Amino acid sequence: MTQQAQRVDVLIGGAGFAGLALAIALRQGLGPSFAVTVADPALGRAAGDARASAIVAAARRLFETIGVWDKVAAQPILDMVVTDSRLSDAVRPTFLTFDGDVEAGEPFAHMVENGPLLAALVEKAKAEGVMLREAAVADFETTTNYAAVRLSDGETLDARLVVAADGAHSKIRERAGIACHGWSYSQSAIVTTVVHERDHHGRAEEHFLPAGPFAILPLTGRRSSIVWTEGAHEAERIVALSDADFHVELERRFGLHLGDIEAVGPRRVHPLGLSVARAFVKDRLALVGDAAHVIHPIAGQGLNMGLKDVAALAEVIVDAARLGLDPGSLAVLERYQRWRRFDTMAMGIATDGLNRLFSNHSAALRLARDFGLGLVERLPALKQFFIREAAGLTGEVPKLLRGEAL
Ligand SMILES: Cc1cc2nc3c(=O)[nH]c(=O)nc-3n(C[C@H](O)[C@H](O)[C@H](O)COP(=O)(O)OP(=O)(O)OC[C@H]3O[C@@H](n4cnc5c(N)ncnc54)[C@H](O)[C@@H]3O)c2cc1C
Repeated sequence: MTQQAQRVDVLIGGAGFAGLALAIALRQGLGPSFAVTVADPALGRAAGDARASAIVAAARRLFETIGVWDKVAAQPILDMVVTDSRLSDAVRPTFLTFDGDVEAGEPFAHMVENGPLLAALVEKAKAEGVMLREAAVADFETTTNYAAVRLSDGETLDARLVVAADGAHSKIRERAGIACHGWSYSQSAIVTTVVHERDHHGRAEEHFLPAGPFAILPLTGRRSSIVWTEGAHEAERIVALSDADFHVELERRFGLHLGDIEAVGPRRVHPLGLSVARAFVKDRLALVGDAAHVIHPIAGQGLNMGLKDVAALAEVIVDAARLGLDPGSLAVLERYQRWRRFDTMAMGIATDGLNRLFSNHSAALRLARDFGLGLVERLPALKQFFIREAAGLTGEVPKLLRGEAL
């Protein structure tokens, strides 16, 4: 298997946001002699991904530092309102508002469409000399000094480090025998894009309804991205409706404050769950992004967490390689695991708790949570803390998320 194998320093399985951002950061940090290959059977094909992502300030700094931010159209989120009501309530009282910047002139988040962001990452990876392979990681075996990797096109590579960036159903993680903690929520998110008559003025809205959160997230122009949580069966029923019936369901939740609305582009359903890998590293293997953790999109933090993994792992590898250490050794990789695993568990528990607290019909729970939201609304210091937390700027922030090159 290893005789004519090509040798690379890092082989990344998965050319999603996490895999590509890591590849670019490594080449920029360690130069052209550090060989990085990314393999993905669906290389750069974001077609059908109707989603847009809330990119928090820290993640935006990473994209800016690696040189892709100016290639995508981004809509700043200038303020956010949170409501909590029943679907039938005529008025949705606002319990919490967020506005202002994390630093002067720096909004706490931007909305970016997934397709153009992925395309920009592919172009940048090519420009940095990352080897891109349109093939899956089919198998790998770890020896003392390298991992022998077999791609689905039959080619073999010897890598000092394999990175699993192959998403929620990671085959690489499975092949390594790493199990996950977690569960399904029996909820799904309906995702679509809406055009509306009036300007959103950069306002994001999160309406907590008994079936789950209904988020209206501003895109460039008079458009918004919808992330609409329902029970899994109800979500399937709703996306299968005729355009006219879908419009009625959408308008009941969206309201009329932005004038006439129309759903455009594909409607997609994403089943929701929580899953955190029991280990983020093994000898010659590291997990990043959804391969390491999947959380509820209630706080729009999944990709942002993946980018935190990328920033931390890139920093650990670059520091080790500059000292002449083996970037695939467990001793080096454990620094990455220590850095990211606790933070990930904390975010997983927080989003799980939020979802349980808000996605239910209990009037008593509504009273309690609205009291909590009201408290945060009235305490500016607490509110500012939550804004910085949501923006990814608390704790031990890796260099790329501070906007510093490696
Ligand atoms: C409805 C919804 C809304 C969301 N909104 C937000 C948000 O606003 N903000 C946010 O931060 N996050 C959000 N998220 C989460 C975010 O979308 C994910 O965390 C992110 O896409 C994960 O990126 P990734 O690169 O880790 O994995 P993916 O994007 O899943 O990429 C994995 C890649 O691996 C490839 N692959 C699969 N198997 C193999 C193999 N064997 N070998 C090689 N390659 C392979 C796939 O083809 C794919 O290209 C949302 C999620 C959902 C469901």
